[in-house]
Amino acid sequence: MKLNRRRVLQSAAALSLFGTRSWAITEAEFDDFTIRSVSDGKLVLPVGFFVAEGADPTEAQPILSEAGVTGDTFDSPLNLTLMTRGDETILFDAGSGPDFMPTAGKLPEALAAIDISPDQVTHVIFTHAHPDHIWGVLDDFDEPAFVNARYMIGRIERDYWLDPTTPETIDPARLSFVAGAKRRIETLGDLLEVFEDGDEILPGIKAIMTPGHTPGHTSFDLADQLFVAGDVITNPHLAFRRPDILSGSDQDPEFSAETRRNILNMLSESDMKILGYHLPKGGIGKVRRENDGFAFISG
Ligand SMILES: [Zn+2]
Repeated sequence: MKLNRRRVLQSAAALSLFGTRSWAITEAEFDDFTIRSVSDGKLVLPVGFFVAEGADPTEAQPILSEAGVTGDTFDSPLNLTLMTRGDETILFDAGSGPDFMPTAGKLPEALAAIDISPDQVTHVIFTHAHPDHIWGVLDDFDEPAFVNARYMIGRIERDYWLDPTTPETIDPARLSFVAGAKRRIETLGDLLEVFEDGDEILPGIKAIMTPGHTPGHTSFDLADQLFVAGDVITNPHLAFRRPDILSGSDQDPEFSAETRRNILNMLSESDMKILGYHLPKGGIGKVRRENDGFAFISG
């Protein structure tokens, strides 16, 4: 690692924002690629978010208390997956940008701290178009932030946010999500390529539709070694112990619960690691069966 003046300054900035935590929290080597989990900061969300509106919270409460979630809010980390392979620098999702939450949008500093400049990024591949995943794709001048990148998203996800009926069918609390996603997708225009479920979008990178959180939510299988989950699983305790409990973060909670259980089943029976966007300690780990549910083993 080069320790030049710029790096020292950036590291110092990183420390002042995040205490003792460094930017590239976790690095993992695979057969022919390297993965770094790069932090965009965190979201601070109301605890009520864990359980969908109208669902009974009593089963969730003891699990959350045991996990130390006792206040009115909880911190949800934001882990972008950065894959490097030969000449390719592939980013999964683009972070929140400056306009979503003051605790988020830290990706530019995080990349700088590991000496990656936005113009080195060759691909930006979206799991879905919620604010914490796509709003960071435009810079302060409303231009694409990664000038040399190819941008890719699932066709169903793109079409959903552009559909003129979406503002009428989405939860009104999420109307700003529609405006934000639509503006970014339209600004990217022809730069944004679309893929279908099951496509091998780049060699060894397969798109797997995991809908429910959003209608076109997609996860990615990297060479059968790492599963870039996105928001199929949005916390390290409840979603594993009781994947059937309907989550308030999902647009279609029942569909999402079914998807979540299928993915957890699949991962618990494979050697693949998972990288979860909102999981702790950089989000890399393994899924194991435990009692009637599952557990996240970080590392
Ligand atoms: Zn998210």
